[in-house]
Formats: sequence, structure tokens, C-alpha cells
Amino acid sequence: MEDTLERIQSVIISASTKARGSSIAFRRQRNPTRPAASWITTSRIGNSTGKALSVVFSTIGCSHARGESGGCTMCSYLLDGTSVPPSAAELVEQFAAAMSKLDDEEAPLSVKLYTSGSFLDSEEFPSEAMKSVLETIAQDPRITQVVVESRPDYVTESNVSLLRSILGYRHIEIGIGLESMNERVRMLCVNKGFSSDDFEQALLTAKQQNIGVRAYVLIKPPFMTERDAILDSVLTVRQSAALWASTVSVNPVNIQRHTLVEQLWTDGLYRPPWLWTVVEVLKRGHSEIPQETNLVCDPVAAGKARGAHNCGRCDQAVIRAIRDFSLDQDPKSLEGLDCECKTDWEHVLAHEDVSLYVHSDRHEGR
Ligand code: SF4
Ligand SMILES: [Zn+2]
Repeated sequence: MEDTLERIQSVIISASTKARGSSIAFRRQRNPTRPAASWITTSRIGNSTGKALSVVFSTIGCSHARGESGGCTMCSYLLDGTSVPPSAAELVEQFAAAMSKLDDEEAPLSVKLYTSGSFLDSEEFPSEAMKSVLETIAQDPRITQVVVESRPDYVTESNVSLLRSILGYRHIEIGIGLESMNERVRMLCVNKGFSSDDFEQALLTAKQQNIGVRAYVLIKPPFMTERDAILDSVLTVRQSAALWASTVSVNPVNIQRHTLVEQLWTDGLYRPPWLWTVVEVLKRGHSEIPQETNLVCDPVAAGKARGAHNCGRCDQAVIRAIRDFSLDQDPKSLEGLDCECKTDWEHVLAHEDVSLYVHSDRHEGR
């Protein structure tokens, strides 16, 4: 059995590596003093609402994607990175450029530190730069929440102690792409390259410093039916909340360039999840987790062919409801949504696994 799984896994690794192809060699050399992106959104901060600055640093990218494992089946963040690693001083300059966007904002503020991989990986983000960025945040009393992202391997005692000692009383969360609590889904459908135990260990290590974990849950990895995707995501939401994840963020798959998911989608073998599926995961998930756990979703490319979508007529209303729910945590925000396409979605849930046919709508002019 294990042998069979390992053989399947090696096929997935080789398909992911092939999909990534030579794109890694053609990555742009970006301006090392400017972040890949930065923006401000309204966000849930603890029990209230405030402004959040998200910064995507330009770095050499995720170690998992750069290595021989080919990276995750749905992720092309590596392409947001730069081919030449920026120096610590340049990363600090990237942060200063992004922080200026907060000049006119009032408390409470949140700062989300993203890279195309792991903020806590010192190969990707040198420790000196990490310290300097955290110290700048520590000097700003308006900032009450800090979110960083990392693979569990880098959630070490020394890293979490450093976060806590510099950021003091602030609410800190480490976002980890758990994707699924199901070992096989994570290993074979996502090619994630870490185990549930690794995730749990990271969570415990973070907890020692009173640092929360924001668990990212992937809705509908490849090779799953729409119905299985709902079941898997709801179970993952429930189990990660039970492990004391402070926030659970559900992320419907979107089709990114040079990925295995993109190849399957191009061949008509994959459709991103329906927005109805996202609503269903949020409704069921919310009813099954403790009230103090935030359940949020900010779907990327929603309403577009490459993102979670419905028929095109109801998409905007459903996306608005998903965003409202993520801010107010009130399940009433998800009520009263309807459209003729809901029947099509229900049909997919009932028949997709029997028909073994991927209900694709790529040819509807999206
Ligand atoms: S999803 Fe995260 S771990 Fe996977 S390749 Fe992308 S950045 Fe790396
Ligand atoms: Zn519709």
C-alpha cells in the first residue's frame, strides 16, 4: 500500500516539476528595493474591523517550489519572486516602501508579511532583515496584529521567540498552508511535502509563545470531485479549529500559470470550485467550530474563469456575501442567495463521481 502511494506520489512530483518547466529559469529580475506587491484592505482584526497592509516581498521564493519536489500542484508564487536574491538591506527598503501606504491610516491596523514562500526561512528572508522589519512594526502603536506566512519547517522555537520578543503584546499569527487534514489529499492532490504531524508540531511551537496559527484550507485541489472537496474542506476547517488554529482561512483553488492544475484545466480535466461550494464550506464550517475561531475567505480571481465562479449572473452577489461574512462572521450574510445555476451545482454534487466527467465551462466565453 505504502509502495503504491509512493509510486503515485513520484508521478505527481514529476508532473508538477514538468508543469513548472523552465519557467523558473525565466523569472524576472525585479527591482530589489520594491515589494512584488502591497495593498490595503479592510480586514478582521481580532474581534473588530480595521485596515490591513499586505506586503508581498520580492524574494527568491519558496524552498519547496525551488527544489526537486516541484512545488504544490496549484501554486506559481515562485514566479512572483526574483531570480537574484535581494540583500537584507534591500528587503528592509521594500518594507519601508510598503509601510508608507499606512501614513494616513488609524488604529487598529494589521500588517501581513508575505513572501513567495516562507517569511521565517532565513535563506529566503535573512534574519537581519526579519529583525529590522519586526522592529519597525514594534515602534508603531497603531499596529495591533501581525501575520506572517511560513511552511511548518521554519516555525522553530528560536523564530517564534524572536517574533514574540520584538513584537511584544501584539496579536501574532503565522499563516500555514495546511490545505487539508487528510494526509493523502495533501500528499497526492497538493504535493505539499509535509505531514499533519509537522503542522501540529508547528502549532504547538507557536502556542508556547502565545502565537496563533492561521490555517489555510484549500478548496478543491485537483483529482477531487466537487462534493468530496466540500467534505474534505469542512472536515479540515473543523479539525484545524479543534487544534486551536486561531483563524481558518479557506482558499478556493485558482488557476495559476505553469502549474499542474493549469495543465489539467487547459485539458478540460479540472474546473475551479463553484462559489456555491465556497458558501457551503463557510456555512457548514462556521456551524462546526468554536465562536472564537475566525473563519475567513478572500477568493482570488473570484467570478473569473480561473477562479471560483458560478454562472456569471450571480457571481458578484455571492462574492460580496463571502466577503461580508469574512468581516462580520455572521452566517446571515450568507443567507438569501439564489440563482438558477444553483440547480446545476446541485446536479454536479449528485452526479460528478458517477459520470466521471469534469463539469467544465471553459467554453462559455469566460
Ligand atoms: S503553496 Fe506555499 S508551500 Fe506550496 S509551493 Fe506555493 S509557496 Fe511553496
Ligand atoms: Zn448563477
